[in-house]
Amino acid sequence: MPSFSAGASTQKQQNYQRRRQQIREQRKSLPIASVEKRLVDEVRKNDTLIIVGETGSGKTTQLPQFLYDGGFCQDGKVIGITQPRRVAAVTVAKRVAEECNDQLGKKVGYSIRFDDSTSNATRIKYMTDGLLLREALLDPLLSKYSVIVVDEAHERTVHTDVLLGLLKKVQHSRANASKNGKALPSMGHSQNLTQKACQGTRCAPLKLIIMSASLDAKCFSDYFGGAKAVHIQGRQYPVDILYTYQPESDYLDATLVTIFQIHLEEGPGDILAFLTGQEEIESLERLINERARLLPPESSKIWTTPIYSSLPSEQQMNAFKSAPAGTRKVVLATNIAETSVTIPGIKYVIDPGMVKARAYNPVTGMESLIIIPVSKAQALQRSGRAGREGPGKCFRLFQESEFDKLVDSTVPEIKRCNLSNVVLQLKALGIDDIIGFDFMEKPSRTAILKSLEQLILLGALTDDYKLSDPVGHQMARLPLDPMYSKALIVASEFKCLEEMLIVVSMLSVESIFFSPREKLEEARAARKGFESSEGDHITLVNVYRAAAECLEKSKNANAKERTMEKALTRWCRENFINHRSLKHARDVHSQIQGHVQQMGLNLSSCGEDMSLFRRCLTAAFFLNAAMRQPDGSYRALATSQSVQVHPSSVLFRTKPDCVIFNELVRTTQNYVKNLTRIDPLWLAELAPQYYATED
Ligand code: ADP
Ligand code: MG
Repeated sequence: MPSFSAGASTQKQQNYQRRRQQIREQRKSLPIASVEKRLVDEVRKNDTLIIVGETGSGKTTQLPQFLYDGGFCQDGKVIGITQPRRVAAVTVAKRVAEECNDQLGKKVGYSIRFDDSTSNATRIKYMTDGLLLREALLDPLLSKYSVIVVDEAHERTVHTDVLLGLLKKVQHSRANASKNGKALPSMGHSQNLTQKACQGTRCAPLKLIIMSASLDAKCFSDYFGGAKAVHIQGRQYPVDILYTYQPESDYLDATLVTIFQIHLEEGPGDILAFLTGQEEIESLERLINERARLLPPESSKIWTTPIYSSLPSEQQMNAFKSAPAGTRKVVLATNIAETSVTIPGIKYVIDPGMVKARAYNPVTGMESLIIIPVSKAQALQRSGRAGREGPGKCFRLFQESEFDKLVDSTVPEIKRCNLSNVVLQLKALGIDDIIGFDFMEKPSRTAILKSLEQLILLGALTDDYKLSDPVGHQMARLPLDPMYSKALIVASEFKCLEEMLIVVSMLSVESIFFSPREKLEEARAARKGFESSEGDHITLVNVYRAAAECLEKSKNANAKERTMEKALTRWCRENFINHRSLKHARDVHSQIQGHVQQMGLNLSSCGEDMSLFRRCLTAAFFLNAAMRQPDGSYRALATSQSVQVHPSSVLFRTKPDCVIFNELVRTTQNYVKNLTRIDPLWLAELAPQYYATED
């Protein structure tokens, strides 16, 4: 009926107009809106500027638009904004594209590892800090950028710290190049690269903006030679802070109880709970939904929505939607929601006071993941999330006396992680003197030396610390941990790259298996179907292949893409596989496959010869070998550390004599995860540089 369709389109038009109006008003009401002109002027006047402003004041979404309007994208130049987290880059780019009334990928886009939405038309580009570091490998002067904004600098991730050092150099080189009218190879890059980067372009000086949510602008200002800092007045409503009377022994359970307490006793407003990772978020989500079923029919409903870095981006966006009427939104987030993204509607914050962090032992060279108490600065940021739109409440699930014991701010990650990746990247950028590199905060000498040693053992560096050819160059090109990059190169020699590609993709995501508490037995039985007695790596290969087979079947039945996706979702449910993680692993797989094909590596399979594949795993991960001790524990050979097999491993019960592993997790004990049984004799044979005896 023509009259009906006309009505619908008018309705649509009205909705659209209303949305535009809403966005315009919301933008105008942000604290940053009133200082637009001043900020643009400051950027014009200063090559380096530090901007400090409360979370939610509009730094990330607005500043790049101000600069665009202020003419910083003339001659096709791009404004780059780096984020420590993938989620933030994606959600913010989507939001800004909408604000600009444009499709994502045109004027505004994002680029993160394994996912790029930008085009030649992109002028405002959100990306992870790690990705910009990779771009510097190809374009050492970052010549397409007029402005680079390093956002969330207070987080001090390892990439941010390295990037700051690098940008300082790039800025210097570009200033010199534009002064002299030509490129100077002053970064230590090979001359031809530098010249190529500047060919045909005038290398205008690079504007650098460091943005931070916390108040310690001084350290950034000092590092950039006394750079100017501007503060944006935020708008913050009072937040009531509540502590527990007793210590909580199980913070997940305490979070669950608190959520329902708020839901039943407090007024309207959404809840934001901070957890440490995907696994915790997913298990809490299930517990909430189970318990929500028991709510009395007259009470309002609960809608849970998770947000963490490896969550596929369509699902991340759910957290920004408002809950349907009569429903309370409960956002389960990692520390991503501390400062990186602002979720509207939050009135209640639950802070168990814990965070998952990398930890590193520079003497043994072992990196591990541990769950530790947050810093005071983090706890303050978390509670601040409750006061964005009105007065709020923050429930800290620890005692007030514990708050005083927290450290003031988190130690920069560069001081507590394995530096192999950093060192490899810097070497590939032509920066040879790693110890002399101008880090904002220097990592320990021992840690740098240990990483150099590790890279030599992996064959990425020669004995005189130069990037080896071709292995070192190849490894630097892959967006992976050096040990994984090495594994792919070794696998191509062993003719089992297909299998290793699957393993590396599956290891790049969290928790493939999923075991709901109420269906533990069924989950266990389903997993049996994939298990290999050789260990977890081959088990992961089996899962991946079974999923691929499921997709293949529905493809052969000429199913449409959506039907195929549905078939896979069903398959995952039936087999107790985490669909989100598998989807992510498949994305990672297709991206790395692209990289290795470009590198000309040989994509072959070892077929049924799993002993060949285990030998290949040994050759790749020899630094992570462990021998069983008489008491059933294991000793990591490289570090002499005592470790236990994690209960999630298929080798938990069999406990073979010798294994290689991929991950070390510290809780009450040192646990190793993702193991494969190997023959101890293979170590000396396949990694003689490390295990051969010298007689
Ligand atoms: P800052 O970087 O200073 O913390 P942002 O620019 O990220 O602030 O956010 C400014 C405001 O924009 C937020 O308070 C929020 O209201 C809104 N906003 C940001 N991202 C989104 C989104 N994805 N969906 C809806 N609103 C958003
Ligand atoms: Mg921000």
